[in-house]
This record gives sequence, structure tokens and C-alpha cells, in this order.
Amino acid sequence: MRGAHRTYRKAMTDRAFATRAIHAGQQPDPLTGAIIPPIYQASTHVQDGIGGYRGGFEYNRAGNPTRSSLETQLAALEGGASALSFASGLAAEDALLRGILRPGDHVLLGNDVYGGTYRLLTKVLAPWGIETTTVDLQSADAVRAAVRPETKIVWLETPSNPLLKIVDIAVIAEAAHTAGAILVVDNTFASPALQQPLALGADVVVHSTTKYLGGHSDVLGGAVVFGDDRFVEQVKFQQFAVGAVSAPLDAWLTTRGIKTLAVRVRQHSENAQAIAEWAASRPEFADVFYPGLASHPGHEIAARQMSGFGGMLSLGLSAGPAAARAFAESTSVFQLAESLGGVESLIGYPPEMTHASVRGTALAVPENIVRLSVGIEDVADLIADLEEGLARIAAS
Ligand SMILES: *Cc1c(COP(=O)(O)O)cnc(C)c1O
Repeated sequence: MRGAHRTYRKAMTDRAFATRAIHAGQQPDPLTGAIIPPIYQASTHVQDGIGGYRGGFEYNRAGNPTRSSLETQLAALEGGASALSFASGLAAEDALLRGILRPGDHVLLGNDVYGGTYRLLTKVLAPWGIETTTVDLQSADAVRAAVRPETKIVWLETPSNPLLKIVDIAVIAEAAHTAGAILVVDNTFASPALQQPLALGADVVVHSTTKYLGGHSDVLGGAVVFGDDRFVEQVKFQQFAVGAVSAPLDAWLTTRGIKTLAVRVRQHSENAQAIAEWAASRPEFADVFYPGLASHPGHEIAARQMSGFGGMLSLGLSAGPAAARAFAESTSVFQLAESLGGVESLIGYPPEMTHASVRGTALAVPENIVRLSVGIEDVADLIADLEEGLARIAAS
């Protein structure tokens, strides 16, 4: 193979983020020169004699070239040693947790992590002997008080969902390591375009690639990215033995989404900042939860550990829960739906949607909020849509 291919094979670690997002794991097809590698839509690979695998590929639960490309790209995004790709964010989390934990182990979880993570630990893994407690990770003292000899994992999410609380990753990494635990960061909300937890001391990063990485609300997926080699084999074994892998087309769609991540997230952040500032000036909103506002309690930490404030924000309606619920049903550009991170703007009422499963638990959220996933439409249209929504609920 001549020059171009050799250049591509070179590690992408010396390139900037936007370049890595486009090129890592994406060498042109060596057979035809097709600039986009083909989707290897196959379940098995022919062997050149027994055990004579081409490129190491055998059967697609164990490995698929399209999935491998995505895994290379994911590792490059987070500055990780390697990555594994899964059928969903929760499948990725499950493989990580079962790969690392054994009965009797304890997980210390932020008290505002994704509800599905809480459910996985307390409903699926608890009967297999995994103990979970929750704590406010904004306080390193609270973390030091809550860790036990059995604590294997401290698990955090920042910015958190839906109140956009900010946790200092470096501080909690140190507290976790002092206690003999590892730090896992769910980096779904920020995306690696804005925040790189491994560089701040985290050991492992997880993603729901369904959100910003895929970015177009057309594919489900998840990832585990490792800072080093300590846990790779045991999690890879779970991936192989259980089989919650990305399908080739899903992996390919995620790869395509990731290529525009840097530019999309910049626009998501710019639009969300404008909406947060607009909302802060409106009496209909008692609270605006957005780390890009100087008034946000986590603003300084966010400004330090993130390179932008992201596209997620929540608004607390002054008129209370019924108004919040009605407002979520009153917009039209912002569409009423679960999920986040796509190019289109979404609105949701967390107590009955994303956070319905934690209503009445320690993870319950205020009843007067709506959550916005701010898309990359024209921001004047987005603000006009929210204004029309306010007018509609005022008139009803
Ligand atoms: C959506 C989400 C998950 C779960 O991912 P799925 O792809 O839906 O399984 C985990 N963490 C966060 C922060 C999420 O938003």
C-alpha cells in the first residue's frame, strides 16, 4: 500500500479533536479507495484454513470491521487507550459493571445520575449482590464519608440530568483513588467535544452514543472508553459472552454522526446560551439551570473543566408544576419527546418522562421544571417558539 494509506494508519493522537473525530478509524477502503469504509453487513467471516482469520475477524459477536472502526474513533475522541461499542448506553454500562464488579462490591453513585443507571444497579444488579448508595458528588467530603472498603466504583455524571449540576471531576477522581476505587464518568451530556474526563483523572468513560455522538436521533448505541488496559479484557469478555454489540449499520451511522460532533456541539452550546439568557430575563421562569450562566453555582468549575457549556438546560416555571407540564405540551419547534443530543430541539417534563422511574426516590427532581435539549435550528425561531408556548399557557 502506498503513502495515503500509511498516513491513515498513523495514530491520530497528535491531531486536534475535530480532525480525530473525522479521521480516526476511517481509513479509505484498501480494495477500492472508497473514501468511506464499507458497512460490513455480515455475521461471519470465511477462514483461510481452520483458524486462518483475515484481519482477526471470525464471528460478529466477537468482532466486526465496522464496529472496530467506530471503537477506534471513540477511543480517539476521549483520548483513551481503547473503546468498546454496544447496542445501547445501558448495555455498555451493564457490561462494564459486570466486568468489574463481584458480589459484595459497592458502587457509590451521584445522587442525580441518569435514572436508567440507578435502575440497572438497584433493580438488575442488586439481586446479584451489588450494593449501591447515592451521594451528592458536589461535596468531596460527602464522598470521603460515603466510601467503604468494598467500594470499587465511584460513578459520576456532569453536567447532571436534569438540573445541570457540575461536579469537579479531578477532585472526585482523587477522592475515589484515595479510597481504592476507580472513577467512572458518564460523559453523555457534555460529549468529548466539551469535556475529556480521562485527562482529568477518570479511569473509564461511558457514553450513550444515542445522544450527541450519534447526533441525529436515528440510532441507539453505547460505549465504554478505557484510560488504560486494566479492565479492557474483562469488559470485552462480557461484550463477547453476552452479545449486546452494535449492529454494523448502527455502528456506521454513529461513526457518521461523530464526524460532525465538534461543529454541532458548538452550535448547540451557542443556542442554549442564548436561550438561557433569554429565559433568565423572563418572569415566567423562577429558575434557569444552565452552567453557562455566571449565576449557576457550578459555573466556575464548568468553565475550567469544559470547553463550552453544552446544549442541555432546564427551566423552573414560576407558576408551578401544572404550568410546567402545560408548557411542555405547548411548543411546536421544540418537540415533546424523551432523549436528547439530536440536531432537533426537544422539550420534556422530567417528573413524568425521563425521571418517572425515580419519582418518590432519592433521585426525584423538582415538579415545576421542563428540560430542553436545544437543537441547532435557527435560535431566533427557537426563542419565538418558547415565547409562543408561554403565551399559549397564559391564555389557557
Ligand atoms: C440516555 C442516557 C443513558 C442510557 O443510554 P441508552 O442509549 O438510552 O441506553 C445513560 N446515561 C445518560 C446520561 C443518558 O442520557
